[in-house]
Amino acid sequence: MPDAELLRQSGLRVTPQRLAILEEFAALSAGTHLSAEDLHARLVQQRSGISLATTYRTLNLLVRLGHLREHDFTEGHRHYEWVRHADPQHHHIVCVVCLRPVEFAESAVGELAREVAERHGFALSAFEFEVRGVCATCQG
Ligand SMILES: [Zn+2]
Ligand SMILES: [Zn+2]
Repeated sequence: MPDAELLRQSGLRVTPQRLAILEEFAALSAGTHLSAEDLHARLVQQRSGISLATTYRTLNLLVRLGHLREHDFTEGHRHYEWVRHADPQHHHIVCVVCLRPVEFAESAVGELAREVAERHGFALSAFEFEVRGVCATCQG
């Protein structure tokens, strides 16, 4: 099973909770971002007792290991997306009214990041680029 394999490769013990969380992310379509609360609600619907605390802990672990990307789209509600589904070069434009993130790819952003890193003598390891505004629906 690929999800169990992923955990083992990361040196993690395979627990039903960790598997359940990875399976939830695997079932999402590309471009879906979940908050810990969204994820916990889905897990509760599908099976039994996984606590919100365990959900938070597991999410943090998977972020640290590089399997999930964490975003700060809204105050106090981090959103997560599965790296395996995501285009590594994608960015987000977030509506400040409905808080919906829309993904886009823009190679110029990556080029700029590399250029800035180079100019300052850095070896680039990561960068963030996020645009905020009011979406077409919310302008209506
Ligand atoms: Zn995304
Ligand atoms: Zn909106």
